[in-house]
Amino acid sequence: MQSSAQTAPFRIAVLPGDGIGPEVMRAAIHVLEKVQSCVPGLKLIFDEHAAGAGEFQRSGDPLPEHVRLACHRADAVLLGAMGLPCVRWPDGRELTPQIDLREIFQLYQGIRPVFLYHQADCPLKHYKPGEIDLVIVRESTEGLFSTRLRAIDPAADAATDQLLVTRERSQQLFHAAFQLARTRRRHLTLVDKANVLPSMVFFRRIFDEVAEHYSDVTTNRLYVDAASLLLVRQPTDFDVIVTENMFGDILSDLAAALVGGMGMAPSADIGDDTAVFQPCHGTAPDLIGRGIANPIAMVLSAAMMLEWLDSDASRAAALRIRRAVTSVMRDPSIRTPDMGGSRTTVQITAAIVDAM
Ligand code: ATP
Repeated sequence: MQSSAQTAPFRIAVLPGDGIGPEVMRAAIHVLEKVQSCVPGLKLIFDEHAAGAGEFQRSGDPLPEHVRLACHRADAVLLGAMGLPCVRWPDGRELTPQIDLREIFQLYQGIRPVFLYHQADCPLKHYKPGEIDLVIVRESTEGLFSTRLRAIDPAADAATDQLLVTRERSQQLFHAAFQLARTRRRHLTLVDKANVLPSMVFFRRIFDEVAEHYSDVTTNRLYVDAASLLLVRQPTDFDVIVTENMFGDILSDLAAALVGGMGMAPSADIGDDTAVFQPCHGTAPDLIGRGIANPIAMVLSAAMMLEWLDSDASRAAALRIRRAVTSVMRDPSIRTPDMGGSRTTVQITAAIVDAM
């Protein structure tokens, strides 16, 4: 995070990636350029790099060394989406450089806000705008993803994955989640599976220890199955949710469905030194080149980046983008097809830019 007095330009590593990544990234850059022209003192320098499945096909490496270095040197990383089902490692796994980045830079806090802008966008009963307003904090460097790179033996009779929970990482995660809850409605829900898995008993024990430092935050503990039911039945009960990597992966898609789908789900992957901002969605191969990808998750991820950069100007710019998105979302006819509308990516982006 930068100091609020920062006046030097922010260097943003831009990784559009694959599929609809470049389409939604174009939208975000357009919005960022517009906000830069509106907010005095905001200076962003964009440094674009090829990474992902396309880069793998070109060079054999989805995340070349020079791209890692550029991300390391940048003040923040903006990422579109990466990976394509048809481009795989020889063992059959998809390329996931977006997950590699979380591990390389130890971006352990996967922050995934879920906010309902208009009642028409919720498939459940008619919640009012802002009534569904929660954040999932997904641990993003260990959990059930910890052995994801282990080689597969095609001749074996069984395969296993390991669910890793370390004390240090869990403490960092929970402190971050409690601190986030303090900036909101001061209610934190731990989601685990402590009734079955020993690793989750350990996870919950560390949560309880950390909770003792935050008597001003109320807490709840739910098993992941019960949490899934409650997210659908009573999403207004939640403020901040903190959970394991895989549970967070699944629950954040479920929660996105409550507010319009993947095109409405921004995210930030935050570590102690750097952060990557990207929509929760993937490359959506069914939409490539059709011009109808919903750019809002990407635009809101860019707003999260500006908040995290934390200068007076970047915070003002983030607010301006959020207000523009809120104003566009007030009219339920301004939607891409994933949300039942007929507008294109370019039209939604233009509406956001006009609203600024
Ligand atoms: P990943 O595993 O990388 O998260 P995924 O296979 O789960 O990706 P996504 O690419 O996230 O799948 O998207 C699933 C479907 O949701 C897409 O095929 C597409 O129809 C829809 N979708 C995702 N993102 C958007 C978007 N920005 N705009 C419109 N529809 C989207």
